[in-house]
Amino acid sequence: MDHEQPTVVLPGGDRMPLLGFGTWQATGRAGYDAVLTALDAGYRHVDTATMYGNEEECGRALRDSGLRREDVFVTTKLPPERVGRERATIEESLAALGVDRVDLWLVHWPPADPAQSVPVWREMLAARDAGLARAVGVSNYATAQIDELIQATGERPAVNQIRWSPSLYDRRSHEEHRDRGVVLEGYSPFKSTDLADPVLARIAAAHDVSPAQVVLRWHVDHGIVVIPKSVTPERIRANADIFGFSLTAEELRDIDALGSP
Ligand code: NDP
Repeated sequence: MDHEQPTVVLPGGDRMPLLGFGTWQATGRAGYDAVLTALDAGYRHVDTATMYGNEEECGRALRDSGLRREDVFVTTKLPPERVGRERATIEESLAALGVDRVDLWLVHWPPADPAQSVPVWREMLAARDAGLARAVGVSNYATAQIDELIQATGERPAVNQIRWSPSLYDRRSHEEHRDRGVVLEGYSPFKSTDLADPVLARIAAAHDVSPAQVVLRWHVDHGIVVIPKSVTPERIRANADIFGFSLTAEELRDIDALGSP
């Protein structure tokens, strides 16, 4: 599956697989098993965070998978209450993951004090420039908050990871990211989705796949990164099995329309 996986090019030139594996709430033995199963099923992108408390499990699964480090894209995230301790935080992440650098380091959400936003971003850029992360970005940022970072530093976040699903589809937000050259990465693809929705059911039947697979494919066909989480082996595998079909322009539009109020 490796070679067939679609990727998006980040501002620094690196490629990020559009499908990743989410790991929030997957900790301990279950987290390790889930990540190992995911890598075996063909995922080549793992999404973790300091806050998830599972970087060690992710790193161990990565090593035990037998895959080469450079073949798996690894993201982790800075909790913004670690302001002033950014460098120590990424060093802890790298030690827990057992890697020299991550592929993407995100500010997990905007700092509570808006005055800290630009200083934190400068620290992210410094960590990237020091070789600790290949790319840096943000999560849960509004467009105006991204613009503030770009104006202050001339450097755009490579990625903004935000909640995204058919029912949350927002063409304007998608365009705003594209206009700025910021890759849109969606999280929680299923949590705000009604998998029994008749539109998803109809399209799933037409392709002989599940509504969940349609939701994931809809992200990929829009060029949006998607990171489904599961600790259930059959679901882990099914969620990765989305490259044998694609959606028509009309089907994409019908799913987009689920986001209309
Ligand atoms: P998801 O939308 O990925 O949903 C996960 C839930 O859906 C689990 O209960 C899982 O069950 C279930 N599920 C998985 N696959 C299927 C399927 N094929 N059919 C039916 N149910 C399914 O939610 P998350 O909130 O976990 O989001 C994904 C990832 O995004 C996170 O794990 C994390 O990495 C990231 N994230 C980032 C945030 C941020 O602030 N930056 C916030 C939230 C998430 P089970 O595990 O039991 O199989």
